[in-house]
Amino acid sequence: MDTVIRVEGLTKSFSGKQALSNLKLHVGTGEMVALIGPSGSGKSTLLRHLSGLACSDHGGAASVRILGRSVQEDGRLDRRVRRVRADIGYIFQQFNLIGRISVLGNVLMGRLGRISVLRGTFGRFNAHDKALAMAALERVGLADLAGQRASTLSGGQQQRVAIARALAQQAELILADEPIASLDPESARKVMEILRDINETDGKTVVVTLHQVDYAARYCKRVVAMKSGTVHFDGSVSALTVPFLNQLYGGDLDASL
Ligand code: ADP
Ligand code: MG
Repeated sequence: MDTVIRVEGLTKSFSGKQALSNLKLHVGTGEMVALIGPSGSGKSTLLRHLSGLACSDHGGAASVRILGRSVQEDGRLDRRVRRVRADIGYIFQQFNLIGRISVLGNVLMGRLGRISVLRGTFGRFNAHDKALAMAALERVGLADLAGQRASTLSGGQQQRVAIARALAQQAELILADEPIASLDPESARKVMEILRDINETDGKTVVVTLHQVDYAARYCKRVVAMKSGTVHFDGSVSALTVPFLNQLYGGDLDASL
């Protein structure tokens, strides 16, 4: 199995406090991994490093390689990080759509990174870009809303548009940071089913941070639990016993359900 994510010795501090501490993580092609752990354990910080949106402390020996390419080495972003970013789809808790433009326009935004890498300019969207964007909207069940302003959609629909944007991008790796934390259970289920379908049908690698452990158990075979900026547990969902979770969440298990 090829390794899509290869992180070694990743340390990140904010004002002297370590958010990530000598972290190591390997994820293979086609895996779907849930990243769980209490609030403040470093999940979002890790995802930002994986996508080349943040850089580790200087002077460490951190290495972040994604899809066989270097994102950063020892506290410096690689100068070709733009190429890696073009292959990574990022899904945010608050969807991050442009509300005043159409749903289709938002999905087309997923093509921008690819266009600038392939054609050397931002250029214009061509028929191929538009076909990919419409196919992506079909895939998430929202093709009939293509012409609507994004801001008129419900939260669950907006998150599906954000996933369509990553599909149009033809991202190899999807990083989703609390994608269902703002959604009602029915919308959350739809979003998780779409992510699982992209993983199973298209073989895309998915790493998803989840506050809700029950969703992690239902949708992901592998669970990585973080605590205090390190990987505290890495294994199968079957290990997610109540005593383990109580210990992970410091007795505050209700906060994770
Ligand atoms: P999680 O996503 O697991 O809740 P985060 O990655 O957001 O955790 O945060 C990990 C730690 O890093 C927390 O202590 C948080 O306060 C700190 N942190 C994260 N981002 C910043 C930032 N931009 N400035 C200062 N501290 C930060
Ligand atoms: Mg977070």
